Amino acid sequence: MSETGARNRSTDERARRARQEPIRVTAIGGGIYEVSTPSGHEYTVDLEEGRCTCPDHQYRGTRCKHLRRVAIEVTAGRVPAPGQREATCADCGRQFFAPENSPDPVYCGRCTLRTGETVVDRETDSLLVVVESTDDRANEVRIPERGWSVADHFSNQSYDPEDVVVDVLYPLRRGVSPDDVSPGDLKRYSFPRGRLRRAGQ
Ligand SMILES: [Zn+2]
Ligand SMILES: [Zn+2]
Repeated sequence: MSETGARNRSTDERARRARQEPIRVTAIGGGIYEVSTPSGHEYTVDLEEGRCTCPDHQYRGTRCKHLRRVAIEVTAGRVPAPGQREATCADCGRQFFAPENSPDPVYCGRCTLRTGETVVDRETDSLLVVVESTDDRANEVRIPERGWSVADHFSNQSYDPEDVVVDVLYPLRRGVSPDDVSPGDLKRYSFPRGRLRRAGQ
């Protein structure tokens, strides 16, 4: 057998083991993963830097089975990719991966309100149109010409002060299409996301 053939076989063997062994992968943030092997070893993998603390990688410089395994788990969506974290949607309760730098509460893609969508204000039952879903938090957004934040406003005090802010146009009478309303009739408001529900839900 040629040397090249032997090397390829050992590469294939490593790839096969990386898929089959019951290795546990845990994301600990910052693109770092803890890998526990069946034999009780724990290694730390830095996925983006392509580094692992195992001897195979440290001394032989190989792309070890731990690095491969973390990549497989990320690709399969079983652990968060670098820059993401595990999160629970504040609206539907579904588990998903949120940006690592966005604190709770967070909303999954399905529960993030889109520009132009019609929503209902839980406080007044009015129909509103979404202008923009922001990442800003209710306790950080100041209401122009007032001394308080969106969270401080009397009508928002029963909502999470750290909720994300959604800008809406308000009000829209029921049965009136957004196309039939002149812009002068509408006022832009900032509300905590929790105050809004999708029309028809
Ligand atoms: Zn390794
Ligand atoms: Zn959701």
